[in-house]
Amino acid sequence: MNNYQELTKKQLSFFNSGKTKDVAFRIETLKKLRELVVRHEDDILKTVKADLNKPEMEAKRAEVGLVLSEIDFAVENLAEWAAPKEVETPSTHAGAKSYIYQDPYGLALVIAPWNYPFQLAVSPVVGAIAAGNCVVLKPSELTPHTSSLLAKMFNENFPEEYLTVVEGEVETSTALLKENFDYIFFTGSTMVGKIVAEAAAKHLTPVTLELGGKSPTIVHEDANIEEAAKRIARGKFANAGQTCVAPDYILVQRNVKDELLANLKQVVTNTYGEDVSQNLDFPHVVSEKHFDRLNSFLTNGDIVFGGKTDRSRLFIEPTVLDNISWEDNVMQDEIFGPILPVIVYDEISEVIEAIVKRPKPLALYLFSEDEAVQDHILNSVSFGGGSINDTINHMTSHYLPFGGVGDSGMGAYHGKASFDTFSHAKSILKRSNK
Ligand code: NAD
Repeated sequence: MNNYQELTKKQLSFFNSGKTKDVAFRIETLKKLRELVVRHEDDILKTVKADLNKPEMEAKRAEVGLVLSEIDFAVENLAEWAAPKEVETPSTHAGAKSYIYQDPYGLALVIAPWNYPFQLAVSPVVGAIAAGNCVVLKPSELTPHTSSLLAKMFNENFPEEYLTVVEGEVETSTALLKENFDYIFFTGSTMVGKIVAEAAAKHLTPVTLELGGKSPTIVHEDANIEEAAKRIARGKFANAGQTCVAPDYILVQRNVKDELLANLKQVVTNTYGEDVSQNLDFPHVVSEKHFDRLNSFLTNGDIVFGGKTDRSRLFIEPTVLDNISWEDNVMQDEIFGPILPVIVYDEISEVIEAIVKRPKPLALYLFSEDEAVQDHILNSVSFGGGSINDTINHMTSHYLPFGGVGDSGMGAYHGKASFDTFSHAKSILKRSNK
């Protein structure tokens, strides 16, 4: 097992030189990163194709586009975010002034997953650079082409003591987690999130945990069913369901179920063709282990459409399962694949009761025009974030901090939230003896 003491020592010494505190230096770094992403766009598209068979259009938007817009937003706003802010001073402290300084934590460790292997590795790094930190990035070993491209891009263009990529498997993460980082940003499963939190506790290192979970999608009787089907299918089947905020399952009011299922089938046919197995652009599942786990769910309930699989190319057809109960295997853990179970309800109170007794989801989606129903759900259920009459798009706004709660994680990022996540708010009271 490698020892990363030397690396963290070098980074600490670079951090203490004060170079990263200079806002102009951070902006220059972000611009250089932007230029690298643009220059390597074709390589990025190729590696995510090789790792996940991700289609070019999807990768352009979700891997490259989102990273570029995070960089641009940070460059545009950084000077203002980083400036000390004067705040009010209570009358009991008359004569003093009060300020909040945004201080970089120091050394940030970013551990990334495989499902958006470029974007989910680089987006947090943008926040860490903007806030003035040094970074060690550990990409996922399950997407080796993207991992080695990240290593090449960072390690050939930035000094190791500032920004570096360390490739490797679980042992590499474990070894890195032994070091005394000032901040840890982890994206991945709830199970590994707990391991990371435990390791961080040994050094009292603050963490952001961007985890997963079963995100419910509720379709109420008054919803526009045709639109709901389009937006659910788009959120679910993009990246073959391997999206942390993908709708995990549908809860549909009984009287609109048949209409919803018919519309879902139509949308999938329109989007991917009559026989998706012939569509060579449909992303594949990341590994045989994940394929076997997903394949075993296909015996749950009844298949409405889909169900074809091909292990030799890790293909699973977009599949909707009807007549599912909460006890079925497919309802026990996050699915993370193109399989969508459907459960019916009669009253919205059943939905709330079922969700609140399970782990807090990362996302929740509600399709209903009725504001009373919307408020009832929003006020009754705790979840990371979500959308009303849409899926997954809350995740792509700079103005909405993105993160989970409870089992789906802690902390948030994107836009200014990324800068805040990687900054310590240092409160200062200034008095004068004059
Ligand atoms: P994972 O937890 O298996 O792995 C994530 C990272 O942790 C990888 O870099 C891996 O090498 C490392 N790792 C694995 N085991 C480890 C251990 N024992 N100790 C230390 N490090 C370890 O997750 P994954 O399979 O890559 O990603 C899928 C999960 O991530 C899903 O649950 C998904 O919902 C979640 N996810 C969440 C978000 C979010 O933003 N909230 C985004 C994407 C994925």
